[in-house]
Amino acid sequence: MAQQSDQFKKVISHAKEYGFVFPSSEIYDGLSAVYDYAQNGVALKKNIREYWWKSMVQLNENIVGIDSAIFMHPTIWKASGHVDAFNDPLIDNKVSKKRYRADVLVEDYVAKIEAKVEKEVSKAAKRFGDSFDEAQFKSTNPRVVGYQEKAVAILKRLGQSLEKEDLVDVKALIEELEISCPESGSRDWTEVKQFNLMFGTKLGASADSAMDLYLRPETAQGIFVNFLNVQKTGRMKLPFGIAQTGKAFRNEIVARQFIFRMREFEQMEMQFFVKPGTQKEWYEHWKETRLKWHKSLGMGDENYRFHDHDKLAHYADAASDIEFNFPFGFKELEGIHSRTDFDLKAHEEFSGKKLQYFDHEDNTSYTPYVVETSIGLDRMFLAVFSNSLVEEELDNNTTRTVLKLPAVLAPTKAAVFPLLKKDGLPEVARQIIEDLKWDFNVFYDEKDAVGKRYRRQDAAGTPFCITVDHETLDNNTVTIRHRDTMEQQRVNISELKAIINKEVDAKNWLTTM
Ligand code: ATP
Repeated sequence: MAQQSDQFKKVISHAKEYGFVFPSSEIYDGLSAVYDYAQNGVALKKNIREYWWKSMVQLNENIVGIDSAIFMHPTIWKASGHVDAFNDPLIDNKVSKKRYRADVLVEDYVAKIEAKVEKEVSKAAKRFGDSFDEAQFKSTNPRVVGYQEKAVAILKRLGQSLEKEDLVDVKALIEELEISCPESGSRDWTEVKQFNLMFGTKLGASADSAMDLYLRPETAQGIFVNFLNVQKTGRMKLPFGIAQTGKAFRNEIVARQFIFRMREFEQMEMQFFVKPGTQKEWYEHWKETRLKWHKSLGMGDENYRFHDHDKLAHYADAASDIEFNFPFGFKELEGIHSRTDFDLKAHEEFSGKKLQYFDHEDNTSYTPYVVETSIGLDRMFLAVFSNSLVEEELDNNTTRTVLKLPAVLAPTKAAVFPLLKKDGLPEVARQIIEDLKWDFNVFYDEKDAVGKRYRRQDAAGTPFCITVDHETLDNNTVTIRHRDTMEQQRVNISELKAIINKEVDAKNWLTTM
């Protein structure tokens, strides 16, 4: 991303100002594409992880979790194909000396064509009003049809060239489309080269006995190599799944999109083992289930779309991304991949150990097929955070910045304020904190006028503010203010827990799925 939109810039600065995300090693001027989660960020991240874990593991009796090590035997990455094929095609611009992913340059070009289609559609929608039929317009308007055909043809050619490893044709495509460097505007490009994304490191004390290792570029392989251990010790019957969340590392070439593309990031993956021949059905099942999970958070159904792959990875027989409408457009948030029996078969071959399932119903042994769901936790964080950040015009001609995080994910569920710092009000507020803190993350604040305290909590995404005033001393009631509506209710202190719980309880969110 050469230029960041204003909204994206606001997201990045808000994330820093309100203690969500800091650049790593900032006092040393930072480290490229590496970030630290701050006091609020770590809580939001944990809540997203838990929301995922609950829906995938806790609510499915045939899915269990593991936590495998980041260091793994180096042959694993030979077997998985990462040593030979985990490459990105890169190209340098000779004038700006900037390095790009060649496929991303082409995809960005296509995104611009798609934006033109969207523009034509919204113009036509205005012109035709209620009688507008979008599908008909898209299939009949000559200009729009032309754009769409062009986009499809470009992506098809890119897919085919990458699959054949025909990097000369990828460069030819960039030249034919007259794609220029976003930074310098120059069209003077180097050849396209492959670049392996794995980080290497060493295990062991002495130089001669040290073993070359890789930092894992995905968590999935830790699941495959434990497949039989889990199946046997958990007495799991097919179909069943193994889930894990954890760090992955990729030496990304283009990493300029904040936490969208990092060099150290966290994945939440689930590998679902199925009987061969049923993978298509399970692939469709997980596509739908994962989309519903996203939609359960109420961030706007129109902000999601599937992107089915033409170009398939070496291990897949079908693959689709769930794309989200980030501040810089629709981009991959999660991948759903039908991985066939590639991984288990490869580990059988490289390790010499059998990784088969004995099916008691059929009395046969076979290698299961696998359907994977793989989502980046940091990308999900960015989706939630950027979608929630809004600038609202108020009736009195002022604006407020509010982070409308889904309440189930909000780092702090309620802030408690004494109206004044005297007359015994702080003591009552503290008592409320003491009571609520066993169930929720709560925050005490007595500084500044209440209006200012409300604004601070709005900007940090806290769904409720509770204010203790003099009336509280008489009748045990407080005001509870709702972040999104700014409405205030007078309620008894004893009702607080239930009011908060109703809005933050994952059950109420996940049962809308
Ligand atoms: P991309 O095409 O954006 O590089 P990918 O197709 O290589 O992503 P997968 O290997 O399918 O990604 O990984 C699964 C998920 O992990 C992605 O959908 C994304 O959410 C997340 N992810 C992948 N790479 C990164 C990264 N560098 N930083 C943050 N999240 C990432």
